[in-house]
Amino acid sequence: MPEGPEIRRLADALQAQVAGRVIDRIYFGMASLKKWQRRLAGVKITKVESHGKVMLTRLDNGLSIYSHNQLYGRWVFCDSNAYPQTKRQLRLAIDCQEKSALLYSASEIAVLDEAALSSHPFLSKLGPDVLHSATTAKHIIERLRSKKYNNRQLGSVLTDQSFVAGLGNYLRCEILFYSGLNVRLHSKELDEKKIRLLAETILNMSRQSYQTAGITNQLSDAKKMMKQGATFEQARFYVFRRQGLPCYRCGSLIEKKSLAGNACFYCPTCQLL
Ligand SMILES: [Zn+2]
Repeated sequence: MPEGPEIRRLADALQAQVAGRVIDRIYFGMASLKKWQRRLAGVKITKVESHGKVMLTRLDNGLSIYSHNQLYGRWVFCDSNAYPQTKRQLRLAIDCQEKSALLYSASEIAVLDEAALSSHPFLSKLGPDVLHSATTAKHIIERLRSKKYNNRQLGSVLTDQSFVAGLGNYLRCEILFYSGLNVRLHSKELDEKKIRLLAETILNMSRQSYQTAGITNQLSDAKKMMKQGATFEQARFYVFRRQGLPCYRCGSLIEKKSLAGNACFYCPTCQLL
C-alpha cells in the first residue's frame, strides 16, 4: 500500500498534470457519482493536496474530489488522446485541455464540499500529516505522551492514522529500527532522549522518503550501494524486506515476524526490548 510519501508524490504529479486547467470532460466509473459528470465540466482545478494517504483535488467552485488509493488504485497521467490499453477498471478520468489524469481500480472516490470534508468520517480523524511543514517534533512528542497513545504498543500506534497521518508498514519498520526501539514497547516506557529521537525520526525519515522516492536508509550509504551495483530495492531500506541479511549497524541477521497481519522487519540486537 502506498504510504504518505508515495501519495504526496502522486499528488505532486497530478498537480503538475491538471492544476490551473479547466475540466473539459470528467468521467466517474461509479453509478453514484455519474451525476457529477455534467456539473464539473467547465470547472477549473486549483490544486492537489495529500492528507496522509488521502488525495484531495480542489476545484474553484468550492468542491473537492476525494480519493483514497487503498492497495490497488493506480494513477496514470497521459495525453487525452493516448489512454493506455488496460484491463483495469477506470474509476475516474479527468480530461483538461489535452492532458488527462486517470485513476484505475480505486473504489474510495467522492465529490465533497467544505462541510462534508470537515465532517468526513476518515479525514476528520486524521492526525497531523508527517509531511506538512507545520507538523513538528514537539507535536509528535505531545501525542506520544498523551493518554490516548502512551499505553499502546508502538507498532500499532505508528500506523494509526489518527496518531499521525501518512505512516504505513515500511515507514513503521524503518522508524523503529532507526530509533532502536522494539515494536512492543509503549511510549510511556521511553525516556526523554528516546522519545525525542523517535519523534524526529518519524518526521525526518518520512520527509527523506518523500524527497528521494522511497529511500529510508542513510542516503549516502544507499547511493554508494547503488554505485557499487545494488538495485534501488536492495539499497533503499535498513530492515524492511531484508530478513536474513546482516544489519548495517551490528551485523545480526534481520528478522521478520507477523504483527496484526503485517510483516514486521527488525534487528533482534539493535531493537531489544
Ligand atoms: Zn542491528
